[in-house]
Amino acid sequence: MVAISRSSALAARRGASAAPPTLRLDSRGPAVVTLQKKLKAAGFDPGAADGAFGQKTLAAVKAFQKAHGLTADGVVGPKTWNKLNVKKQGPTPPAPGGGRSVTGYVKGKAQQITLSSIPNGKEMRSDAAAAFNRMHATASSAGINLHVNSGFRSMEEQRALYQKHLNGTGNLAARPGYSNHQGGIAVDVTVGATSSATYKWMENNAKRFGFIRTVPSEPWHWEFRP
Ligand SMILES: [Zn+2]
Repeated sequence: MVAISRSSALAARRGASAAPPTLRLDSRGPAVVTLQKKLKAAGFDPGAADGAFGQKTLAAVKAFQKAHGLTADGVVGPKTWNKLNVKKQGPTPPAPGGGRSVTGYVKGKAQQITLSSIPNGKEMRSDAAAAFNRMHATASSAGINLHVNSGFRSMEEQRALYQKHLNGTGNLAARPGYSNHQGGIAVDVTVGATSSATYKWMENNAKRFGFIRTVPSEPWHWEFRP
């Protein structure tokens, strides 16, 4: 390896105590290891923490940026570093496996679950979120955008949806306490018609990330059942 990336060279000139350097595809060095560890902790798999910013790290960075409302350009500048750090020092103490702890409902029973971010400002139970984010990044690199319309729902949110359903102004909704969205394992994705490229991609790939369809009338509703 002869080439030293420009950002690493700049970082070296600024000295070790400076703010984290801007990183991009082909960056190398200890700051990349830090980035990879933080991505992994946030549920975005960059591959091995080997200090080499390759395609897997790029996909993880883009998915992380998308999930946090940043421009998904794959360049790790101050804003992305900030989100990576903020996540770690958020107001809610991190539960085991990262994420925030909330009351979820499974088959009518309250239970404590841990949530992590997925794209479009939504959340899922942390294990489901990690799998969804991997799937999202893989879909992205195949040119498929999995837009999330609904992830975890609080009791209030499910009550509101159920009321709309009863009023005849909303989609089918499970009665409060009984939606798998309240357990953090269900996600609604914009898939279009079952003939669309997005739906076909899900049909061919979702299973290997642990996601299956469970509601025959709802092609957008997927559940994490690995
Ligand atoms: Zn749903």
